Amino acid sequence: MGLKIWLTDKLVDEDQAKISVFDHGLLYGDGVFEGIRVYNGKIFKLAEHLDRLFQSAKVIRLVISMDKQALIDASLKTVEANNVLDGYIRLVVTRGIGDLGLNPFLCKQGCVFIIADNVQLYPEELYEKGLKVVSCVTVRNHPLAIPPQIKSLNYLNNILAKIEAIDAGTSEAIMYNHLGYVAEATGDNVFIVDNGVVYTPPIEAGSLGGITRATVIRLAKEQNSQVIEKDLTRFDLYASDELFLTGTAAEVIGVVNIDGRIIGDGKPGPVTKLLKEKFFNYPRS
Ligand code: PMP
Repeated sequence: MGLKIWLTDKLVDEDQAKISVFDHGLLYGDGVFEGIRVYNGKIFKLAEHLDRLFQSAKVIRLVISMDKQALIDASLKTVEANNVLDGYIRLVVTRGIGDLGLNPFLCKQGCVFIIADNVQLYPEELYEKGLKVVSCVTVRNHPLAIPPQIKSLNYLNNILAKIEAIDAGTSEAIMYNHLGYVAEATGDNVFIVDNGVVYTPPIEAGSLGGITRATVIRLAKEQNSQVIEKDLTRFDLYASDELFLTGTAAEVIGVVNIDGRIIGDGKPGPVTKLLKEKFFNYPRS
């Protein structure tokens, strides 16, 4: 049996959930989205995700046809209709149907759709063993071109980096900004631990303002760890005691090898493990 998809104003069967070929979300990657977790039937950090969605939409001057409460109700209905207990929601707002030109204001109404499905995490053993990653040649979008804070439907920058990761036989790639500082991974934020201090690049270095990132920073501070947001170099990653990634789907996952350099003793370190556990036990109602 297929999924029930929220499309515009109601739930429809998966095979009825269709978007026009003239939708600028498809023609130009013009739109915004969120990836949100469901734990035990409850939607995690929905308010934060909706704030980010509306912020992204505002920056690209996209009017969302539903207000926050309507999106909350629609998300809950979609989760319930698909009996998702532990899963993932993809909430997408496209620019809508327009003509073949770029002008977004000729698109009369944005299209909202919501998919709730099971989540694709890394296999459990990778959380134990840690990931292998590579630095990629693809530079993270220049913030004066496409600010990486916009969670837009145009993910080609990240996809080019992901291709590099796959070609290198690794799961993730670390992306650097136009100045050579660490920006983020293709779908996750980056942290290191050095002498017990937790470091992560500032958002301005070229990353999405990750909701997991913010939660992990708070959790680390609660453990009395010092957390410093500063520009990080490739050297900083190579020389770190611990390296880990954070994201809605990945949660907190250790990295043990970057460009052939072994991090720590080759296993996820104690701070990574503690933060992973604290994140796992975070109140989720
Ligand atoms: N960076 C990018 C490019 C992402 O797509 C994501 C979300 N998958 C993240 C960082 C992590 O953000 P969040 O913790 O809000 O999922």
